[in-house]
Amino acid sequence: MQELVDLGIMVFRQKNVRGTFKPHLAVKFRSDEGRLLTFSIDTTRVPQKYQQPDAYLITHAHSDHYGKSAMLSDLAVCTEKTANALEIRHDREYKGRTVKMGSSIDINGVTVQTYPNHHTVGSTAFYWENDVGTRILITGDVKDACDLPDCDVLITEANYGDPGDTSCYFEDDLSGFKDIFECNNSLAFGAYAFGKAQRAVELLRELGYTGSIEMEDQSLALTRKLLDNAGDLTSLGNSCDDSISIVPPWDLDKLPSHISKYVMTGRSDYRYPSIQISDHLDARGLTKMVEDISPEFTVVYHPNGHRPERFASHLRQIGFNAVSIDKVSNVLSNEFI
Ligand SMILES: [Zn+2]
Repeated sequence: MQELVDLGIMVFRQKNVRGTFKPHLAVKFRSDEGRLLTFSIDTTRVPQKYQQPDAYLITHAHSDHYGKSAMLSDLAVCTEKTANALEIRHDREYKGRTVKMGSSIDINGVTVQTYPNHHTVGSTAFYWENDVGTRILITGDVKDACDLPDCDVLITEANYGDPGDTSCYFEDDLSGFKDIFECNNSLAFGAYAFGKAQRAVELLRELGYTGSIEMEDQSLALTRKLLDNAGDLTSLGNSCDDSISIVPPWDLDKLPSHISKYVMTGRSDYRYPSIQISDHLDARGLTKMVEDISPEFTVVYHPNGHRPERFASHLRQIGFNAVSIDKVSNVLSNEFI
């Protein structure tokens, strides 16, 4: 990774005391003032007795990005909505600093800018420049890359980044969603409480539905707090007329049998018909994102498993410098951060 040395950035992984890898990555670089800084990205906290990074950047509130741990550090940085979502999901107080989506925040002399990636409410990409002008972008999970800026070092995801896997190609079935909405009087959607449930409400309101939407308790709390124009939302069983319900997929069984039930998912292993609505770019979308951003070096940092390397390998084949997280050989233990 000589390219990264030339660009003035070191990407590394950390080991826990038990010898296992901490999730995701950290980066070291110098600020304009020449200060050496460390940002940890979507990872768990380092124990208090060890030196801390300058920031724990949390891209969004999905549990596989470890905000549940990082939110308890005063060095955590995320958007206001992500902090709200973390507090509701984990029933604990967010201890870090927040930034408004689209604004910047100063972290020890470095201006870190946020850009929406449209993955969940509150989800953000983080961007900053180091002392030699290298532009660094952490995308988080991405649904739409249209607002992301160009950069030199791209740190991105590959949830559906394996070009050899047919399940990594999909398009949202918005017309199917519309048909289901128009053809059913009594309707329930199975949707995860954080992410999909808010998307379902947004889609229904975009289709002109102004009636009440019944929701399971955590979905209701999250949607009320996170969506600005959600309309009339209420608890399950609270509205008199036929209405639309949104519950986690495994709760569909608990609803009355006369209700038509659908799951918002890319998966096909549920008992109920599914509607393809994803929170992610597919393999084509991820590739186009990298082509548009045109970085000098790409690190694929998420998820676990083989997909980061499949995507990095694909990027190398089409002419980009790219490495996946499992091939990052800089590994530091807590004592050396
Ligand atoms: Zn996510």
